Amino acid sequence: MNETKPDPYFAERKPRRCPACRSLHVAAIVYGYPGPELLASAGARGIVLGGCCIGPADPSWRCRDCDTAIYHERLRLLYESTPDLFRREKSSAFWRRIR
Ligand SMILES: [Zn+2]
Repeated sequence: MNETKPDPYFAERKPRRCPACRSLHVAAIVYGYPGPELLASAGARGIVLGGCCIGPADPSWRCRDCDTAIYHERLRLLYESTPDLFRREKSSAFWRRIR
């Protein structure tokens, strides 16, 4: 079976609109262990928490409506050489839990 997955989205900076659903709710993903302040205010500040396990191919932004991940442009070369790294996306359930 030749499974084809569409290319992920890349951007230089946080896009105003989600490239997939045009939602304006694109959030920056903050990695690392969050303090209580950040946990309490994450939603209001338009960020989502990415957890403390940082991989080589983690997205920088994420749509809070459709869960589309957007990667920084600098990861494009990595994607072209090692697309498998990008297939290990965290599940939608993971993101819903921390929303
Ligand atoms: Zn979206």
